[in-house]
Order: sequence, then structure tokens, then C-alpha cells
Amino acid sequence: MEIKQLLIATRNQGKVRELRDLLSPMGISVLSLADIKNAPAVVEDGLTFRANAAKKAVELAQFTGAPVMGEDSGLEVDALDGRPGVFSARYSGENATDEQNNDKLLQELAGVPMERRRARYRSAIAFADPHDLIDVVEGSCEGVITTERRGQNGFGYDPLFLIPQYQKTFGELPLEVKQTLSHRAQAFRLFLKVLERYLVA
Ligand code: IMP
Repeated sequence: MEIKQLLIATRNQGKVRELRDLLSPMGISVLSLADIKNAPAVVEDGLTFRANAAKKAVELAQFTGAPVMGEDSGLEVDALDGRPGVFSARYSGENATDEQNNDKLLQELAGVPMERRRARYRSAIAFADPHDLIDVVEGSCEGVITTERRGQNGFGYDPLFLIPQYQKTFGELPLEVKQTLSHRAQAFRLFLKVLERYLVA
């Protein structure tokens, strides 16, 4: 079997850009929910990234009748006992903007010294076809939350997420570097193995 096109069950254009960049060398083009008419709104009520990623993939695979990738991700901050976690997109309220979420994160960490600002991004990628959930894989990426925004690249919390090895945020690092380090890129490498097995089965 061959896959030439894959639906990613998201409307987040930051994620779409990164996953498209990772899938295009495989000759796979990417569709997002913005391309699907009347796509059902998946309620992200899972307690884990895995559960939400699986739910998105399964519901959309059943709706479209084709294989689907679901991705769920977020930021876990140690000083906040792992928050915002699965609520990262809605940290400062339903329909929150990245700007509002970043402001809330800076406020909650006000006065916390650098050595206690450790955090990690996590990503779960699920793959489903209309019959089954095929598999879910995960990746993570360690960082430190800065005290002010740095850089314009990426999306979400990237201007505040510093990679110690580079002493730069994902807002400052080019996409090529993020694609070698990020939680999503790590999960994506495992997803490729899942896809290979699925296509030969
Ligand atoms: P989801 O669409 O429910 O998975 O929301 C993921 C949220 O986590 C995003 O809206 C961002 O706030 C955050 N997030 C996940 N991955 C990244 C990333 O690579 N950079 C910045 N923020 C991210």
C-alpha cells in the first residue's frame, strides 16, 4: 500500500507547518481540518496527550473513511506541577491566543529563579484507520522558561521556551533546528516506523 496524502486532525497552523515539512520528503502531502468540510469538533477531554491524540485520529478516520494522524501536545512546567499540560492551548481560557497564554505563563512564574523554571514539551502522535487505532507514539523536549519573549519563530510558547544547549528559544532558533530537537519531531520519527509497518501489513 502507498499513502500520498494524509489528514492531520488539527486546525493549528503551527503544527501543520511542522508536520508538512517533516512529511514532504516522504512524498506525502498534508491536509488539515481546515480542508475538510463539516469536520466534527473532537472534544479534547482526555487526561493525557496520548488519549487526546488517539481520540482525534479515531474520530476523524471514521468520519473521512481514510487513515488519519492525530497529534496532541503541550507544555509541562515543573514549578507549576506540570501545568498547563493537556490544557496548554486553553491555559488562559477557551479560545485563548498564544499571546494571552504566554502572558499568563510569565505571570505565574514571576519571581521564580532560572534554576526552577525547567519545563518540557510533550507530543503524542496517534495513527488510526477507519477500523482501528493503529498506534500512539510520544516524544518530549526539555527546556527552560525565560523571563521575557525572545524571537518570532515557531508558535505557541516557543518565544519563552529556551533550549539550554543553544541558549536560544525556539522563537529564535530556525525551523531546521527545531525539527531536529522538538517533541513533535521525536514523536514523528517513531510515527514513521508505525507507518512503515502499516503500509507493508
Ligand atoms: P493541542 O492542539 O490541544 O494539542 O494544543 C497544543 C498546545 O500546546 C498549543 O496550542 C501550544 O500552546 C502548545 N504547544 C504544543 N507544541 C508546541 C510547540 O511546538 N511550540 C509551542 N507551543 C506548543
